[in-house]
Amino acid sequence: MTELAHYVNGAAVAGMSGRSQPVFNPATGTSEKTVALASVDEVNKAVAAAKSAWPAWSKTPALRRARIMDKFKSILWDRAPQLAEAISSEHGKTHDDALGEVTRGLEVVEYATSAPSFLKGEFSENVGPDIDCQMIRQSLGVCAGITPFNFPAMVPMWMFPIAIVTGNTFVLKPSERDPSASLLLAEWLSEAGLPEGVFNVVQGDKEAVDAILHHPDIKAVSFVGSTPIAQYIHQTGTSMGKRVQALGGAKNHMVIMPDADLDMAASALMGAGYGSAGERCMAISVAVPVTDAVADALIEKLVPQIEALKIGPAADRDSEMGPLVTEQHLNKVRGYIDSGESQGARVVVDGRGFKQDKQGYENGYFIGGTLLDNVTEDMDCYRNEIFGPVLSVVRKQSYQDAVDLIHGHEYANGTAVFTRDGDVARNFSQDIEVGMVGINVPIPVPMAFHSFGGWKASIFGDHHMHGMEGVRFYTRIKTTTTRWPTGQRTDPEFTMPTLG
Ligand code: NAD
Repeated sequence: MTELAHYVNGAAVAGMSGRSQPVFNPATGTSEKTVALASVDEVNKAVAAAKSAWPAWSKTPALRRARIMDKFKSILWDRAPQLAEAISSEHGKTHDDALGEVTRGLEVVEYATSAPSFLKGEFSENVGPDIDCQMIRQSLGVCAGITPFNFPAMVPMWMFPIAIVTGNTFVLKPSERDPSASLLLAEWLSEAGLPEGVFNVVQGDKEAVDAILHHPDIKAVSFVGSTPIAQYIHQTGTSMGKRVQALGGAKNHMVIMPDADLDMAASALMGAGYGSAGERCMAISVAVPVTDAVADALIEKLVPQIEALKIGPAADRDSEMGPLVTEQHLNKVRGYIDSGESQGARVVVDGRGFKQDKQGYENGYFIGGTLLDNVTEDMDCYRNEIFGPVLSVVRKQSYQDAVDLIHGHEYANGTAVFTRDGDVARNFSQDIEVGMVGINVPIPVPMAFHSFGGWKASIFGDHHMHGMEGVRFYTRIKTTTTRWPTGQRTDPEFTMPTLG
């Protein structure tokens, strides 16, 4: 058994808490590794390292910080396959999907290399007679990231490249289900020349998270995970005076209008519903065909494609869909299919009976792609995030009914409409109350130089991730107003100064 542990002050650190848990390979159902679970004391040590690194790092020229990110980016490009293997071995996603995750994270690193440009301040001369004013962005201090299992490399990279390049130091608490990626990232940052203590990793569970939330030296917390935990993180963190951005769960609807290209829509649903086994916060889990005729035609196109899905381990490079992350999660997903069926949904394609017969993978946490028809708003499988390869069809008879359905759901992360009608497309993107919208694009994940985030119960806090929103979250503004000696007045002023 290998124990995966922490990375503090530029070096791997063994766990000392005496607590650990197994890390499974979801494709085989076996465990050859454990992950250490940090104690409060171990979190405190990581925060202390980050705190002592901050004064020098925050004063390091932005260009130098950006060059370290540039070096890190080159390392990531070169070693993306190694990182992808590490991700797949603990998460289960296919190799190409893991490579895609690495690339999307790397793009944030790439964006971070433009820090000297986005950190440029603002300056106004003569805001008053011989008075100038400047605005600069300064770092906050020690920031922390708490991340989910489904993107063990990309989601941390939504956070730390921008936090670090803007002059903060960072403590990452990755998901305990797939901890290896974070340790590789930490090693490669050191190799790229990042000074000790600027980036630290503590592995752990609730104990480590609570230690982060209550630590007085942590100024900001970024979180991505399920909604109940996001809400807890936001409430607790803000009550401790921290900045918090906490992204939560999702239930993403895709509306298919009668004028849509149905082949295009069906193929989009396949990738968006079953890619990464549905374990994506931007997965489409609800298809909303407008009119029964569209629903019937769409289902007819989907069924053979779902039945033909190549389900297998990442080691098999032809696999289109891997296993679920844990046995417990597999049972939860099965339970939602059971409940949908018992509450009246029609199980058109049933993944529950899927058996993986590839040798060595018989005990992996595999499930087949599932399609539920006639799903209604009151069903548990509709109200809750399933986070598995289960696509629900909710039939609607008009565009407005489809919009009302989306507005009735508590989550509002992403959504899409498939149509050729420009008016429908424009109305949808303008009026829909969801954070990320696709027009004939099923998974509208914004690029690194834009910002990622949902609305309603899919986010707690004000700032989305990466892009300029990330820069705003990790910096605070300082404005300095300067009167030059030539503008010195002799008489005191007792009234609010104005230009008159
Ligand atoms: P999770 O909420 O179980 O865990 C996320 C993090 O919180 C982990 O680091 C975990 O250790 C920690 N945590 C778990 N329980 C905790 C507790 N009781 N107290 C304190 N900390 C706790 O989420 P997950 O299962 O790892 O990830 C899947 C969820 O993440 C899904 O709901 C998915 O939609 C969401 N997600 C959202 C986005 C987004 O951008 N909105 C992106 C990816 C994933």
